[in-house]
Amino acid sequence: MKDLDLFQIALGLDDKWFVVKSEFDPKAKRLDIYLDFKPREVFPCPECGLESKVHDTNEKTWRHLNFFQHEAYIHARVPRVRCPKHGVKLIEIPWARKHSGFTILFEMVILSMADAMPVNTIAKLVGETDKRLWRIITYYVTRDLKQQDLSKVRRVGVDETSTKRGHNYVSLFVDMDTKKVIFVTEGKDSYTLQAFKQHLLKHHGNPDLIEEFSCDMSPAFIAGIRDQFPAAHITFDRFHVMKLLNRALDEVRREEQASEPMLKTSRYLWLKNQQNLTAKQRKKLDSFSKLKLKTARAYRLKLVFQQAFSYDGQLGTYALKKWYAWAIRSRLEPIKQFARILKDHWNEITRWFETKLTNGLLEGLNSLVQAAKARARGYRSTRNFKIMIYMIAGNFGSLST
Ligand SMILES: [Zn+2]
Repeated sequence: MKDLDLFQIALGLDDKWFVVKSEFDPKAKRLDIYLDFKPREVFPCPECGLESKVHDTNEKTWRHLNFFQHEAYIHARVPRVRCPKHGVKLIEIPWARKHSGFTILFEMVILSMADAMPVNTIAKLVGETDKRLWRIITYYVTRDLKQQDLSKVRRVGVDETSTKRGHNYVSLFVDMDTKKVIFVTEGKDSYTLQAFKQHLLKHHGNPDLIEEFSCDMSPAFIAGIRDQFPAAHITFDRFHVMKLLNRALDEVRREEQASEPMLKTSRYLWLKNQQNLTAKQRKKLDSFSKLKLKTARAYRLKLVFQQAFSYDGQLGTYALKKWYAWAIRSRLEPIKQFARILKDHWNEITRWFETKLTNGLLEGLNSLVQAAKARARGYRSTRNFKIMIYMIAGNFGSLST
């Protein structure tokens, strides 16, 4: 087999195209492949497909996959055809997208690398600017987003995550059933819910069919959901609720340590989950629990609250009702404050007994998003951060074309 035939096959060229010559320059670490189309060849009009005569040509160059350590470039004159109906049009070529300076194969390699490392690292590796690489990634993610079908979405989780150094935020919307990010938008205010509704409508979704939302206790999200999705139920993430109770418990401890200095170094004993304590910690906690401490009383309240969340449906709601009655009479001010929050958000908190929805999935995605943050670094734009989240946590920009 001749070298030129090999290139012909490797580039996946159809029989309209052939390899004219290749120039290999080891000093410049460069391989240049020149293609041309056959004389008197006709090409389909990109608008209507009608085989049309060549009007003129444009010289173009594309960066291709490296040939071992050598950068490879493809050169060709791309015809413009004259269609009787659509006039003069640039044709589509098999090895590259219109207006891209890279071959499709090169772009595929960039996409798979972007799954694993920061874009500016890839840029250094392949000797391109990260701006050009971001353009590739953005193209494929946006292409997939355009085809997004949200008609089956019923249960949605929403959470915010910080962009650079925590000054800005983006909100993530996740389909709780497919476990994929379906929408990312800037901000963490109630407007993000309006933006999500628009996004749903644009992608075959129906806001009236959204049955459930899962979120933390952010007033902005709650207001936005009630406003834009009045028929949907809200489940508060129970880990966030637990966090509030832990905070109340720790407040009781801090107040008490003024009179009981031995409590000073005990913070984590009370806050840790029981099953995560070491034998030594457990012993210490037991000895504390025997004393008539306010902190120990608050701790028992916490354990019973936790216990309630092992029940389903009515039983859970009943257990929580009993807990509330106990807590509100506990004479522990921080716990009473928490109990009032519980009462104010009764429906959203007890909804969990029906839906069992938590933002645990979102927290998991958050670690992916943190990785995305690292990958978006070096390019100061929230837009790129969003693109990277779509790619990593939403599976957009996949390798199939
Ligand atoms: Zn045409």
